[in-house]
Amino acid sequence: MEIPSRYSRHTRFQPIGEAGQQQLINSRVAIVGLGALGTVLANHMVRSGVGFIRIIDRDFVEESNLQRQILYDEEDANLHTPKAIAAASKLRLINSLVEIEPHIADLNSANAEQLLSNVDLILDGTDNFTVRFLINDVAIKHQIPWIYGGAVSSRGVSYTIIPDQTPCLRCLFHSAPALGTTDTCDTAGVIGTIIHVVASFQATEAMKLLIGDRDHLQGRMNQWDLWENHYSSIDVSKARKVDCPACGKHDYEYLDAVLDEEWIQTLCGRDSVQIHPVQATSLSLEQLEQKLQALGDTTRNRFLLKFAPSAHIRMMIFPDGRVMIQGTDDIVQAKTLYAKYLGM
Ligand SMILES: [Zn+2]
Repeated sequence: MEIPSRYSRHTRFQPIGEAGQQQLINSRVAIVGLGALGTVLANHMVRSGVGFIRIIDRDFVEESNLQRQILYDEEDANLHTPKAIAAASKLRLINSLVEIEPHIADLNSANAEQLLSNVDLILDGTDNFTVRFLINDVAIKHQIPWIYGGAVSSRGVSYTIIPDQTPCLRCLFHSAPALGTTDTCDTAGVIGTIIHVVASFQATEAMKLLIGDRDHLQGRMNQWDLWENHYSSIDVSKARKVDCPACGKHDYEYLDAVLDEEWIQTLCGRDSVQIHPVQATSLSLEQLEQKLQALGDTTRNRFLLKFAPSAHIRMMIFPDGRVMIQGTDDIVQAKTLYAKYLGM
C-alpha cells in the first residue's frame, strides 16, 4: 500500500522510512488519561499516523485545564465537554486517516482488561499510582508494553516497560505513595513545558517500539526538572525483582481487586468525590433533569448532567451512573447527596 504523502517527513527520516511508517499505520495504541500528558501523547500519535487510537478519560474540560491540555479550547470548558469527546473531535480534524475510539470511563479493575485489550502499546497519561499499577498488572498479564510518564511542578519522569524484559513499575515502586505525601498538579501546580518534554519522550519511545526498533529504546528511568535545569537517567535494568507481585509472582493485586458495591474516591486536591456504581447503569439524563430541575440549577449536554443543589455543591452526573461531586471531600456527605438525588 502506498504511504500517504502527509507522512513524507517520517518516511524521509531514515530510522522510520516507508516500512516503519507502514508499521505505525498498522499499530493500535491505548492512551489512559487525557489531561496534560494524554493530550500531548494523543496529538503525537495521531499526527504520526498510528492507525488506531483508543482514548480513555473520566473527566470533563474545565477552564484551568487550558493552560496545558493542548487539545481543548474555551468552548469545551464552557460546555463541560467530556475530555474523551472533545479530544476525539479535535484529533479527527488533525488526521482523518486515524481511527479514534473515545471512552468516557474511569479505568478500574472491572473494565481495565477490556479497555486495554487488543492494542500493541499502552501510554500512561494518568496522574496517580493506583491506576498505573492497574495498567502495570494488565500489561504484564497480557504482555503489552507500556510507557510510564508523570509530571508535576517543573519536574517530570518517564520509563518504558516491556513485560518479562525490563523491571516493571512494581519492581521499582512496591506500593503507591500515601495520599498527601506527594505533590499533585492541584497542590503544586505544573508548567506546560515539562508536559511536552515528558510526553515527547514517551511518544518517541512509542514510535521505536511500534516499528520494532528495540535497539534504540532508551530504557532508563528518566527524571527532569526544567526549572532547576536538571536531567538524570538512571540504569534500572538490574532492578527486576523475583518476588515482584506483578511480574515475579503474577499476583495481580490491582487487577484482581474486587470493587465494593460503589467505588468511591476522593479526587486529591480537587475538593471532589467520585462515586462509581460497580454495576454500570443506564440513566436517562433527560428524565433525571426533569426530576432535579425543581431542586436546583441544572444544565445538560449529550454526555453529562450538571446539577447544583446548593451554592457550594455541583454534581456532574454521567449516563453510566457515575457522579463527580464537587465542593466536598467528605465521603459521607457525598454518599448522602448521591442517595438523595439519584435514589440508589
Ligand atoms: Zn515487576
